[in-house]
Amino acid sequence: MTTATVVGGGPAGLMAAEVLARAGVAVTVHDRMPSPARKFLLAGHGGLNLTHSEDRDAFLARYGSSAERLAPMLEVFGPQDLRDWCAGLGEATFVGSSGRVFPRSFRATPLVRAWFSRLADLGVRIERRSRWTGWADGGLSFADVDGRQTDVSGDVTVFALGGASWPRLGSDGGWVEPFADRGIAVAALRPANVGLRVDWTDRFADGFEGSPLKHVALSVRGRPGPGGRGDAMVTRSGIEGGPVYAIGSTIRDALDAGECVLEVDLRPALTVEQLTERLLRRRPKDSASNWLRRTLALDRVGIALLRESASGVLPTDPAVMATLVKAVPVTVSATMPIEKAISTAGGIAWSEVDDALMLRRMPGTFVAGEMLDWEAPTGGYLLQASFSTGVVAARGALAWLER
Ligand SMILES: Cc1cc2nc3c(=O)[nH]c(=O)nc-3n(C[C@H](O)[C@H](O)[C@H](O)COP(=O)(O)OP(=O)(O)OC[C@H]3O[C@@H](n4cnc5c(N)ncnc54)[C@H](O)[C@@H]3O)c2cc1C
Repeated sequence: MTTATVVGGGPAGLMAAEVLARAGVAVTVHDRMPSPARKFLLAGHGGLNLTHSEDRDAFLARYGSSAERLAPMLEVFGPQDLRDWCAGLGEATFVGSSGRVFPRSFRATPLVRAWFSRLADLGVRIERRSRWTGWADGGLSFADVDGRQTDVSGDVTVFALGGASWPRLGSDGGWVEPFADRGIAVAALRPANVGLRVDWTDRFADGFEGSPLKHVALSVRGRPGPGGRGDAMVTRSGIEGGPVYAIGSTIRDALDAGECVLEVDLRPALTVEQLTERLLRRRPKDSASNWLRRTLALDRVGIALLRESASGVLPTDPAVMATLVKAVPVTVSATMPIEKAISTAGGIAWSEVDDALMLRRMPGTFVAGEMLDWEAPTGGYLLQASFSTGVVAARGALAWLER
């Protein structure tokens, strides 16, 4: 019987294991944690967003420069396939009002429980607390919790070791060094879908930590391109949320270049001219706050952000105020560390793998999931690509075994 070693038991690795086992391959999954799929389970805590229902072109565009490479993989195993797979595990899915797709229970636990049971039925063995440490002569080396080394060899290998965010859940990016030592190009792992650091004044942070900036549009000064829209959250030491994550790579580029000024459009649906016209309706007795509340319907946090950016002195000229409302400058000093990021940018360069996700330098070794160099915003795109690449790597492994 042919054997496969899957290294890493997250969504990508377990999906690869399922596809291989269904084809009659004897599969062993190694995971360094006491139980696999911890990040997947954690993702379920906030309402597991499995994929998205938007049309193919919009969906693909979320993957930016990796869209071209991922497109055929999303054809092989796309959003509807993922939904069918969930339904097959007893978890029907539904489309939320935002177009995001969730399992009916909103959680990952029932799905993971059913999945483990299916994998066991398929004969997949799971080696827990088994940490891959590198390559040994002709095989793979694993260490147990006591540091005892075991060398394993199989007919084919799929690596799905994830990125480096939330390392306490298992993926710590420890794989980068052994891969790089083999001459495999790995783009530096960087935080993605991560909050930003802003040096708010104590007054603003005390008053507005935890307040949402509702229906805003964010962009980075001097860097045109599609902005991020939605609700952003003010945190004690910065800002986070969907619209921030949507422009994460632009923010990183600006920080790398030495300056990142976020421009917050507090009224994206209105033009500067329309705002000016409304602001001209100021009553003589209006305080600045009343003026902004009454004419533009700005809330307390929006008005406070304007004050924060203007060092407390708000413009009185309607046109100047309108311009500020459309682009409130917020200086970002850094991203939060990768430990706090939802996902990871960077990873194994696309040039290192063929269309079946086999490493060009290591025939018979495949890679899947977040350890590849792609990124996407939140919205279900991360899990979708992890599952899709898991399927593609496994099918590639099967084709290679049959060659
Ligand atoms: C808080 C949070 C919420 C999220 N919510 C969502 C969401 O709603 N929707 C969405 O699309 N995405 C979400 N994500 C992202 C999503 O969980 C990841 O993109 C996905 O889990 C990546 O899958 P993966 O299989 O590539 O890697 P991982 O899930 O990271 O799995 C990798 C596995 O490899 C194991 N491993 C690592 N190194 C070794 C080693 N040396 N030896 C053996 N095993 C090793 C790890 O223990 C781990 O089990 C969320 C992430 C976080 C942190």
